[in-house]
Amino acid sequence: MTTAQVGVVIVGAGPAGLVLGNLLLDRGVDCLILERRDRAAVEGRARAGFLAPHSVRILTENGLAAGLLARGQTHTTCLFRSDQGEFTLDYGKLGLGEPHTVYPQQELVRDLVAEYLRRGGEIRFGAEAEEVTDGRVRMRGGTDVTGRYVAGCDGHRGIGRAALTAHGTRTARWDHGVSWLAVLVAAPPSLSAVGYALHERGFAGHMARTASVTRYYLQCPRGTDPAEWSEDRIWTELATRMRTAEFGPLREGAVLEKTLVDLRSDVLETLGAGRLWLAGDSAGLISPSAAKGANLAILQAESLARALEAALLRGDGTGLARYAGDCLSRIWHAHEFSQWMSTLLHGPDGDDDTACYGRSLQYARLESLRTSRSHQDFFAENYTGI
Ligand SMILES: Cc1cc2nc3c(=O)[nH]c(=O)nc-3n(C[C@H](O)[C@H](O)[C@H](O)COP(=O)(O)OP(=O)(O)OC[C@H]3O[C@@H](n4cnc5c(N)ncnc54)[C@H](O)[C@@H]3O)c2cc1C
Repeated sequence: MTTAQVGVVIVGAGPAGLVLGNLLLDRGVDCLILERRDRAAVEGRARAGFLAPHSVRILTENGLAAGLLARGQTHTTCLFRSDQGEFTLDYGKLGLGEPHTVYPQQELVRDLVAEYLRRGGEIRFGAEAEEVTDGRVRMRGGTDVTGRYVAGCDGHRGIGRAALTAHGTRTARWDHGVSWLAVLVAAPPSLSAVGYALHERGFAGHMARTASVTRYYLQCPRGTDPAEWSEDRIWTELATRMRTAEFGPLREGAVLEKTLVDLRSDVLETLGAGRLWLAGDSAGLISPSAAKGANLAILQAESLARALEAALLRGDGTGLARYAGDCLSRIWHAHEFSQWMSTLLHGPDGDDDTACYGRSLQYARLESLRTSRSHQDFFAENYTGI
């Protein structure tokens, strides 16, 4: 069975698919979003929180920022701790002088779903796409959905990426070799800033989310089972790595969620062809070390919306022809900084001469960030830039 053809079939209702859908509707392009999870699962999935100024601009200019402007918090500082002490970088006064807006991804997704429906869009929840070929999306259960274009916004394990790579598109990849236990706790932030703690036992991170929920990260070995981490063990390890004996206690609360995130990055060599175009994690996965993934997804969704509008409403394909080139330079820029952050935050394992060399470099990098104004400007520009 085939349903009537729409302008753009969007696979995936994450930040990429929902921003794209909202922008297309606003520009008069009909679209349909297919999402394999149910609405509650989509709107409850806690992931990102730090929105770059560029993302906030895109969302504001397109009438999608009411929630984040009302409830988001502005952050302009981050803090580093190690056995050398602690220092704070006021990145809002460095580099381009721009802040982050902290707004949980699930709240943004909730806002985007509501606005998309208000604009008259259709989302099919619980609708899993199995394959895409030449504008036709085959759904689990046998129905086909066809679009003049298909946007693969279905994450890094999605069918959009699979269809492109099956036709020879290469994927550049990097495995950072470390994993983080990502923990969400029902407790207010303990620091007024993002906190990065370098420790011989591994990295620990503190990220604000809301007044009553905070995200923490603990570097742990690949393959770690989150079930092995009891609440007690999590708080004890956080206290050790964040050096609470020296800098003051953390505000503890119940652990709401703990998942293992393997730090991996990849980028497709092109972001689409013909009738299939990708945006967000499906086009490239970026390790969360510099909080760039959702921001790249929003940036690509905006570029793709413009290109699809031109192709569908004016028969002008130049935007689509330029889409990959325009996005890839910014994607690689973000990866370069994310890689730099990763080497700053994670020391090598072991105690041999090579590990000793790697750890000393890590501390030299941190010291340079503490003392060099030009290094701090570079950091600030890239930390908030996209
Ligand atoms: C712990 C953690 C913290 C993070 N923190 C930050 C941060 O602070 N800042 C930041 O910018 N980024 C951060 N990120 C990254 C960010 O969350 C992702 O980059 C972002 O979600 C990507 O959006 P997306 O729309 O491309 O993909 P997704 O959010 O993965 O959405 C894809 C959607 O497609 C659906 N789907 C998949 N396959 C199918 C199918 N076959 N059929 C139908 N639907 C399908 C999925 O169910 C999903 O809803 C973080 C990530 C993690 C894991």
